[in-house]
Amino acid sequence: MGTKAMTDMPGVVVTGASGRMGQMLISLLAESDALQLVGAVERAGHDWIGQDVGVAMGGAPLGVIVADDPLDPFAQAQAVLDFTSPAATLEYAALAAQTRAVHVIGTTGMTADQVAALEPAARHAVIVRAGNMSLGVNLLTVLTRKVAEALDADFDIEVVEAHHRHKVDAPSGTALMLGQAAAEGRGIDLDAHSERGRDGITGARERGAIGFSAIRGGDIVGEHDVIFAADGERVVLRHLATDRRIFARGALKAALWGQDKAPGQYDMIDVLGLT
Ligand code: NAD
Repeated sequence: MGTKAMTDMPGVVVTGASGRMGQMLISLLAESDALQLVGAVERAGHDWIGQDVGVAMGGAPLGVIVADDPLDPFAQAQAVLDFTSPAATLEYAALAAQTRAVHVIGTTGMTADQVAALEPAARHAVIVRAGNMSLGVNLLTVLTRKVAEALDADFDIEVVEAHHRHKVDAPSGTALMLGQAAAEGRGIDLDAHSERGRDGITGARERGAIGFSAIRGGDIVGEHDVIFAADGERVVLRHLATDRRIFARGALKAALWGQDKAPGQYDMIDVLGLT
């Protein structure tokens, strides 16, 4: 393990530095007076490796060279901001646990087995993981649980989400968060009561099921509706994200919040105190 940064501000490494979220995080960190960027990691073979990350982003140098080996950057950091892919996130979790860095995981599309595989890491370090790091969506999660608790199965629950054309997983991590909140409100198991990917002669809708559908196109940052539809009336809870900064701000907040917490797995509801 290397020497941790000596200033008062916690040092932060951004993985997937060239990604949509990675670049947003680096821009916010460059302006932050609470956290400092100490490392940037990309996958081996990426053309940013060896370059100053600020220059690679088309701006002024930031004094941080993009690395493909996460070991040294992690050893110098108090937090890792990780919006990459499930396989990469698992690898980073093991390493962040070794170096005791707070691992903020925004990566979505992880299977239940992959989520379970984070547990050993969470025994040694703080993990904050959320499919959506915005204040608005986490508030919507709390509201969804409440509404699902108040309305019975006469109200069909549908989660409809829209994202940009580059998104690789569906339903979105946020849609699944909202579905989980609805299932908890109803007191049912989401996996046993989900309707996903309807096509063709599907048969009538199952009473009590939670349905998911996904729209993909253009540059949509992220839109989520939770629809409670009964005979004669409908309640719709909606969140519209128009700027990725809301996710990045949440991630920075989580990195700071995690500094004095005991090892374990947390989410943004914990960070935001929205119980
Ligand atoms: P992106 O494709 O623009 O960026 C992904 C980055 O990860 C790239 O830089 C890529 O090189 C890197 N990467 C991928 N696989 C890797 C590997 N095996 N090893 C090392 N690096 C690897 O995607 P994005 O839009 O920035 O989203 C990234 C992830 O974050 C997705 O899972 C997305 O759903 C999620 N996301 C979460 C939130 C949230 O609030 N939790 C918000 C936005 C996006």
